[in-house]
Amino acid sequence: MKPSIVYCLKLLLLLALGGVTMHVPDEDTVVASLGSLRLDGHFGFGHDAHAAARDFGNRCSLLPAAVLHPGSVSDIAATVRRVFLLGRHSPLTVAARGHGHSLLGQSQAAGGIVVKMESLAAAGGGDTAMRVHGGHVDVPGGELWINVLRETLKHGLAPRSWTDYLHLTVGGTLSNAGVSGQAFRHGPQVSNVNQLEIVTGRGDLVTCSPEENSDLFYAALGGLGQFGIITRARIALEPAPKMVRWIRVLYSDFETFTEDQEMLITAEKSFDYIEGFVIINRTGILNNWRTSFKPQDPVQASQFQSDGRVLYCLELTKNFNHDEADIMEQEVGALLSRLRYISSTLFYTDVTYLEFLDRVHTSELKLRAQGLWDVPHPWLNLLIPRSTIHKFAKEVFGKILKDSNNGPILLYPVNRTKWDNRTSVVIPDEEIFYLVGFLSSAPSSSGHGSVEHAMNLNNQIVDFCEKNGVGMKQYLAPYTTQQQWKAHFGARWETFERRKHTYDPLAILAPGQRIFPKASLPMSL
Ligand code: FAD
Repeated sequence: MKPSIVYCLKLLLLLALGGVTMHVPDEDTVVASLGSLRLDGHFGFGHDAHAAARDFGNRCSLLPAAVLHPGSVSDIAATVRRVFLLGRHSPLTVAARGHGHSLLGQSQAAGGIVVKMESLAAAGGGDTAMRVHGGHVDVPGGELWINVLRETLKHGLAPRSWTDYLHLTVGGTLSNAGVSGQAFRHGPQVSNVNQLEIVTGRGDLVTCSPEENSDLFYAALGGLGQFGIITRARIALEPAPKMVRWIRVLYSDFETFTEDQEMLITAEKSFDYIEGFVIINRTGILNNWRTSFKPQDPVQASQFQSDGRVLYCLELTKNFNHDEADIMEQEVGALLSRLRYISSTLFYTDVTYLEFLDRVHTSELKLRAQGLWDVPHPWLNLLIPRSTIHKFAKEVFGKILKDSNNGPILLYPVNRTKWDNRTSVVIPDEEIFYLVGFLSSAPSSSGHGSVEHAMNLNNQIVDFCEKNGVGMKQYLAPYTTQQQWKAHFGARWETFERRKHTYDPLAILAPGQRIFPKASLPMSL
């Protein structure tokens, strides 16, 4: 049986048997416990509950008792407060659900209440409107980043730090970290927030920032939803460029590839976005690029043979406005002249800033049309220190994945100095570390396209890291026991646990992260 299914069954069994009074609550329990609340929004059951028992990972389904569609922030505060007041013997928990793009049930709540944060964003007006002022934007926690971009562009502004895909919510990515090719310069999204408004696990509505209630502010950033529900965030903005020069080049040597990446992320003048990906066992890669990119030298590019080799693609952008196109060309030329890519593989295109940032959505639409979006996604995201990335690459790309992999593999470095160590995010202990994302899809029930196959490869990779002192940390970690989480947090566990006891003492929030099971908290709390 698949490990994820085993986990889900175990959890249901535990909920059913664990503790003397524990049972999986149903619609009647919610109506009896919360029916008297006066709400601007409403609770949904049936179809709503089934929809909330799904996520992007498509490998874990935990049915909640009810879904709250909040019509205001006070709906969320009132619901959490009521669950808090029901006390530790009530089995009810509460999970905020952003866009449900978690990988293994992290935004689900078996027999609990799922708060559909997008309903709050859609409610409009009052405390749920987006507002641009003084170099930042105030947004509801359930707002999608694509909507934040569209709104801020009306003012000629945009957030500085992104994720590769924008159909994720502000509260969801800030609860993890939010990493993309701009992080080398601006840090992850959690480093670009000035203020949060949070409903804690006691149902208190608290405004926090680096100056005010700072412990809660830093706890919630990368806090996996454990300390409160982010109902509003104040995001830093910068002037938005109109256009982007989007460039791809290939390397066949891993060392040269990573040396160039590291040179670019530490250079004073550099590109505006720096990522990379690994290409294994693909044929005609440059031909695929031709549908959206132009080769710098069409003749040379047509002679390039990719077949069978492991290749490394460096992906870069330079922002510009139309009247600065000449300067952009000069700057890009100077930067490219310092790189050692295979010269025939330089491809580029010019697109609007919005088109570039929303690029993964274009792929999503294509995959949806082929029925390949709503399939299981056994993803593995790792943060690997610079000192072990070569050892890692040799084993993983040279051996474990030599013959097969089922999706894009991202690989790019970021600077630790841009990550604030007061947040809850866990990263490797080195100046430069790499984000390596194995973004597998599993469209078939057996063979190379199956979940089992991808999980087997993932397990081999994690195993290698653990047995060979790679110093890896998982991002979007799908751990299922507190023991694993303790190991993940290491010396930072104590702070994480202390913050949990302070802000969510009954362990009501985000049960799908499986860090603090409600029934297991010490009675003294
Ligand atoms: P959910 O999955 O709904 O929630 C995630 C967790 O946060 C849950 O525990 C939930 O309870 C909690 N939560 C949700 N909203 C709130 C809130 N308002 N307050 C408190 N807790 C909350 N990540 C990156 O960093 N970089 C990327 O480039 C990137 N690309 C991605 C591309 C795709 C196609 C997908 C599917 C995911 C990608 N991610 C990336 C991962 C993404 O950050 C996570 O999926 C994250 O969970 C955000 O998704 P969501 O908004 O749907 O949140």
